[in-house]
Formats: sequence, C-alpha cells, structure tokens
Amino acid sequence: MINLSQRMVALGTAKSEIREAFAFAQARAAAVGPEQVDDFSIGNPSVPAPDTVKELVHQLMDTVDPVKLHGYTPAQGEASVRQALADDLNRRYGTGYTADHFYLTAGAAGALCCALSALGCPGDQFLTFAPYFPEYKVFVESAGAQLVAVPARLEDFQIDFAALEAALSPQVKGVIINSPNNPTGVVYSQETIRRLAQMLGEKSRAYGHPIWLISDEPYREIVYQTAPLPWVPDFYDNTLVCYSYSKSLSLPGQRIGYVLVPPQAEEADLVYAAICGAGRALGYVCAPSLFQLVVARCAGQTADMAVYRRNRDLFLDALRSMGYTCAQPEGAFYLFPRSLEPDAAAFCERARKYDLILVSGDSFGCPGHVRISYCVPTEQIQRALPKFRALAREYGV
Ligand code: PLP
Repeated sequence: MINLSQRMVALGTAKSEIREAFAFAQARAAAVGPEQVDDFSIGNPSVPAPDTVKELVHQLMDTVDPVKLHGYTPAQGEASVRQALADDLNRRYGTGYTADHFYLTAGAAGALCCALSALGCPGDQFLTFAPYFPEYKVFVESAGAQLVAVPARLEDFQIDFAALEAALSPQVKGVIINSPNNPTGVVYSQETIRRLAQMLGEKSRAYGHPIWLISDEPYREIVYQTAPLPWVPDFYDNTLVCYSYSKSLSLPGQRIGYVLVPPQAEEADLVYAAICGAGRALGYVCAPSLFQLVVARCAGQTADMAVYRRNRDLFLDALRSMGYTCAQPEGAFYLFPRSLEPDAAAFCERARKYDLILVSGDSFGCPGHVRISYCVPTEQIQRALPKFRALAREYGV
C-alpha cells in the first residue's frame, strides 16, 4: 500500500453527516420523486444573488481587460477592493479601517484557515462553544492545535460563562465564536459579547499573552431581531473577523471573503503578516479576482432574504405548536430543536421514514438536538409540516 498521510485519508473518507444526509435526500428524490422528499440537511442559500451581481459580472467582462480581470492579484487582494470593503464597514460601524487591515480569502473557510494557521503553535488550544460548525475541528487541527468545545447553555445557547472559565487555561490561544450561529440560529447579545470580552481580557492579562477572539461571521447580514448586532472588535481589541459573501450575497460557489485584522489588535502588523504567510503556505495565492471586483462594487448589499424570515416564522411557530422545543433563532437560516428522543441519530432515522431529511446535533457537538436548515422554498416547509406532526405523534407528543 502506498504511504499517504493517514490524517488526510481519514478526512477524505470519513463521511460528514451533513453531506451523507444530502446525498441520501438526492438518491431518494431520484427514486421516489423530488416532491416526496423534504430535505432540510444543507445550508446552501436558496435565494439568488442580487441582480447587481449578474449586471456587474457582465459589465466587468465587457469592459475590463481580460488579462487583468482574470489575472493574479496581490496575495492580500486588490488594494482598491480592500479599501472599498473598509469604507463600507467604516460607514456602518464608525470604524477607521483601511485596505491594509483586510486580507481577501476564499470564503470564511479560507479566512478561518488563514487566521488559525497564523495564530496556531504546537500545544495551543482553541476553544469554541457547542454546538459548533464541524469544520472548526478540521481547520484547528490543520493549524497544528487542538479544538476544545465548551458545553452549551441549552436553554438559549448563549455562552455558559462558568463553563468557559473552567475551560480557559494558559494553553488557550484563541476562542472561536459564530453569531448568528450555525446550527442554532442564535445571536449573541451585546451583554454576552461584553462579558466575553471582559473575561478574555482578564485571562489574557493573567496569562501574560493575548487570547484571540476569532469571530466567524458568514451570517452577519441574516438577522431578524431589531437590536443591532454587536460589532465584536468594538468590545475586544484582539479580535480577528472572518467574513464571507457566501450567504449574504448567495455566492457560496464563488469563494470570496476576508480576514480583518483591526489596527487596535496587539502587534496587528505582525499578525497580518502571519495571515499573509498562512495564505502563502496553504497555497491560496489570491482570492478569485473577478469576484473581488464584484464584492467591492456591491459592498453592503445583500440578496433578498425576506423568504428566510418568512420560513423561520412559519417553521418555528408550527414546530412549537406541535410540541417541539426550540431556542429562539434570531439569525442565519437554521433551527436547532430538541430531538424527541435522547438519541438524535435514531430520531433522524425515524424522520427518514417520512422522507424528512434532518441532521443530528451530534455532528455539531451537541447531542439530543437536530439541525433543520430552512433555506428552502416556503412550499417545502408547508408540505413537510404534516410529516413533523406525524413524527411527533409517534412519540406521543
Ligand atoms: N462558518 C460557518 C459557521 C458556516 O456555516 C460556514 C458555511 O456554511 C462557513 C464558516 C464556511 O463558509 P464559506 O462558504 O464562506 O467558506
């Protein structure tokens, strides 16, 4: 047998539960007809990118020299693009960022890999809060560090500060947060961010080194509450923001996002240099050049996401009225109700009898729950509700 990295073989062959559920749904749709199968497994935006994106792509193709349009850009991204993104954030948050604080990446995944690889040293730990995006473990381990999940506060999925304090130690290099959250849809309140910043500040001083806050924000623009989302670097200087246009502009296949290193961060220039180094070591070269120009010209715009709010309201009210328990999701496009039996995988299996495709919370480090991705046409939810009711009846709910 040829000698390969066993870690990579394992990563490439171990099935992701989300992908497996999605593949199962597709196979069932082929077998029994797509209208029979209600797939809530995957977080692929269901609304199209705004018309501006299409117009811009045409305009750029027609007017920009193709050698430039499709050529390499500087590794950190075109300077004018980075400045446009800085201007947009400065307008919205009253900040003072410049092009030099942005490093453009292939989506939030690329941003997280660069940020974690820049910070991670052997022996380091990164904390995150369960339930969490499963790829964090892959990204953190690829950066040579260890991911430790702080248990969830199950009633509302805000931070359990006693559990966080117990997990903090001098080995902790950073804490990854994701608000609005995948898989719960929960948004961290300003109070939560304030307390988090205070605790990380105190511990950083006690340990004599910064604990970085990595704010993974691909759902920043998908918010239902009226209270504004806290801008995390306003609360904590040593924040790295990882952003993506995958969800806000419905461009997940175009792979575009950024890491922002705010100038207030400790040794910000050095951290930025390490992020550039990480991008280089990971072979990213530069973010997609055409879509750098597109996002610069529609900074601050979003796809029409009204359907997500409609879906959330419809789904949440209906599930609660049937007896399901679900924390209040104020953003993103996921619900994370309690499974009707302790073994969420068994619950998902039972749901499949109705061709109802869900993902168990085990994949997200939070057993006893299921993730429902509602970035689907509203009619699919309407069609699926009787199935959820029948499923609940099986459990005598
Ligand atoms: N972080 C979270 C919480 C996500 O849900 C996702 C994708 O679903 C990502 C990061 C990666 O997103 P991107 O497509 O921008 O790489």
